[in-house]
Amino acid sequence: MYAEGVADMAGRIRDEDIALVRERSSIADVISETVTLKSAGAGNLKGLCPFHDEKSPSFNVSPARNVWYCFGCGAGGDAIKFLMDAEHLSFVESVERLADRAGIQLRYVEGDSAAPRPRPQQGQRQRLVAAHAAAVEFYRAQLTTAGARPAREFLARRGFDRAAAERYGCGFAPDAWDLLTKHLRQQGFTHDELVTGGLSRPSRSGTLIDRFRRRLMWPIRDLTGDVIGFGARKLFEDDDGPKYLNTPETPIYKKSHVLYGVDQAKREIAKQGKVVVVEGYTDVMACHLAGVPTAVATCGTAFGGDHIGVLRRLLMDTDDVAGEIIFTFDGDAAGQKAALRAFEDDQRFVGRTFIAVSPDNMDPCDLRLAKGDLAVRDLVARREPLVDFALRHVINRYDLDTVDGRVEAMRRAAPLVAKLKDREKRPEYVRKLAGDLGMEIEPVQRAVLAAASATPGRDAAPAPRPARPEPVVDNPHSMVEREALKLALQEPVLAGPMFDAVEASEYRHPVHSAVRAAVAAVGGAATATGGAVWIESVRDACEDLAARALVGELAVEPLRIDGEPDPRYVSVTMARLQWGSVTSRIRDLKSRIQRINPVNNKDEYFAAFGELLSLEQHARALREQAAGGL
Ligand SMILES: [Zn+2]
Repeated sequence: MYAEGVADMAGRIRDEDIALVRERSSIADVISETVTLKSAGAGNLKGLCPFHDEKSPSFNVSPARNVWYCFGCGAGGDAIKFLMDAEHLSFVESVERLADRAGIQLRYVEGDSAAPRPRPQQGQRQRLVAAHAAAVEFYRAQLTTAGARPAREFLARRGFDRAAAERYGCGFAPDAWDLLTKHLRQQGFTHDELVTGGLSRPSRSGTLIDRFRRRLMWPIRDLTGDVIGFGARKLFEDDDGPKYLNTPETPIYKKSHVLYGVDQAKREIAKQGKVVVVEGYTDVMACHLAGVPTAVATCGTAFGGDHIGVLRRLLMDTDDVAGEIIFTFDGDAAGQKAALRAFEDDQRFVGRTFIAVSPDNMDPCDLRLAKGDLAVRDLVARREPLVDFALRHVINRYDLDTVDGRVEAMRRAAPLVAKLKDREKRPEYVRKLAGDLGMEIEPVQRAVLAAASATPGRDAAPAPRPARPEPVVDNPHSMVEREALKLALQEPVLAGPMFDAVEASEYRHPVHSAVRAAVAAVGGAATATGGAVWIESVRDACEDLAARALVGELAVEPLRIDGEPDPRYVSVTMARLQWGSVTSRIRDLKSRIQRINPVNNKDEYFAAFGELLSLEQHARALREQAAGGL
């Protein structure tokens, strides 16, 4: 886990305050900010784990015990640990964030070192978020100034009134070199904080200047609503920068994860089970205002795998609960390319991905201006499955009036249908493709089958797991195996019953395993009385020379214990012998449980859970047994 109260740079928080924060933080509320949770029965909640990739929820939250645990990857802890892992915060930063939420005033104790701290420092994240909050206020105030007229006009031209601008915190970066920088410095933010947060940058002369100037500003928030960066649009002809500028990568702003508008949209995304991905800040605003509250946009980067991860957890996109992701594109080549790439990237995602292309190639913001709110809602409602979109895109490239064109179009389109993960949908698409091409079903079906067999692996059974690597003789497990065999050969009366009770499969080293088999072949160690006759009989039962030689060696090698072996020593050795396989069986079982769909396979799910509980009990018993010490 983590060391509590560890004084990182930030000064130590008093233990009582940490306890209070833990007590007052509702774990369900904290986790719900980023992961959609549904009831798992018995007062527990579950969702898709943010720490590993999964399709059915194994991430469990117990509000009663104020803890969370993932059966899939084994991560778990309290609210503090969740923030540390999910938001990459330090311990102190997590406690501070939770204290803010719960309205708890934290008290800090000075470190043991003699040098007194001038004042308790907050964690870096909290400082950067505070600097952004102050910057939002600054930019907002600037929007009402005379110099901001082009910004106000831009918003008005796009159909956004004052209330809309306020709802999204729009602002204006003034025509000045360091107005914001000075303002924030006066509020106590340091040079380093402003540079690290991406709000300011050093000029050529070395003085600190504002990063954004003469631009319309949109604050970009994370899932919890904290402002972590800005998007800035060019307003003036003589501004030779790009149309949009964004905050660079900072400790709190990761563009591969950031989705503009997600803080306002997340509850509707979870409720409706759908999300609409648009291309810009004004499109998000237009959609929300037009009655499509589930819209979000990426910020200065293409939609990618990390964005999918964020959205899937909000959608709780599982095998049994399908969440819809709807991409809107203004029909240009770039948008189409992005959509087709999505088809290649994440097959399991394809069935739930839809494309909404405006007939007039307008983005949602233009559409709302030209045709009103209803037209925006219609655009989303008229969405088309990504597969259909992709097929149409391929087919449109060929002249279907010629036989050659039809055949070539079929050859190009067949692999897309063959790639469909949802195989029940293939016949439907074969028929559709045949219809679109104006061909008989038969040849299209043959083409799809041929394409399917040309891309092996997708439908094939999972490859067998690689054989266990052969353990080296001097690894700890091999030592334990060796010790167990020595006990059976040298002390059969003492060790026999316990030795026989442990299965042969626990011996991983092939030669050890051969000796274990020889002991079993002569009736087991419990029947033996010891001495040279016993050793000889085991040696004779060995099937290979290496095992035979090893028996001779083990019969005389001293045990790794001072003095006489006792039952406790045997018990500890046998517990250690089984430890590795029990833990790996637990791991396998957890991963199996994660793959079982509890809705459709309730019995299998509960059986596996029962097995897991008894294995874990066994593991606990072994751990206690092994703790006897060697
Ligand atoms: Zn997990």
